[in-house]
Amino acid sequence: MARYHGPVCKLCRREGMKIFLKGERCYTDKCSFDRRPYPPGQHGQRRMKFTEYGIRLREKQKVRRIYGMLEKQFKRYFSDADRQKGVTGENFLSLLERRLDSVTYRLGFASTRAEARQRVLHRHILVNGKIVNIPSYRIQAGDEISVKEKSRTHTRIVESLAGADRRGVPEWLELDKGEFKGVAKTLPHREAITLPITEQLIVEFYSR
Ligand code: SF4
Repeated sequence: MARYHGPVCKLCRREGMKIFLKGERCYTDKCSFDRRPYPPGQHGQRRMKFTEYGIRLREKQKVRRIYGMLEKQFKRYFSDADRQKGVTGENFLSLLERRLDSVTYRLGFASTRAEARQRVLHRHILVNGKIVNIPSYRIQAGDEISVKEKSRTHTRIVESLAGADRRGVPEWLELDKGEFKGVAKTLPHREAITLPITEQLIVEFYSR
């Protein structure tokens, strides 16, 4: 599936916050957002005034970029969430969090979601003991997500796991670092998703 291949630090600067797309570099003084915390481009330092539409658009773009998705797929997730019972915005975030690439990142088996996507595609990740190479695979409560035995010495995986505590494992997941595995204790509920997201703005954006 297609994905964004452009410069990622510009995305953080555009959205006005760190969205941690470069792994460990994001925690160093090389972070572009820390050095230039204003939007990219010639007019980046001008004061911006957003319309209501602009505010909703920016929130939608921010979340889409956090999860590294293109518009068509992102909108499909929204439609799925809209069809479910309950609060659409919360369902939407829950569906995004339950993607296998996102869970792989959250458990620390990769230092970014893009890297996690590659781990999954390269068949390093197992769900309930079976290889799953579909990044959008939807995790269910009780699923066990682990790193394939042969891949446990993979330098990038070991390094990523070492930084897992700093990034933080959400409370709906339980990580066993020594065994290179984690369990989805429950489905992700809104309080467990600590990203600074106002999902209502995205609902309003797609409902216009
Ligand atoms: Fe964003 Fe900074 Fe990471 Fe670049 S280094 S992706 S600007 S958080």
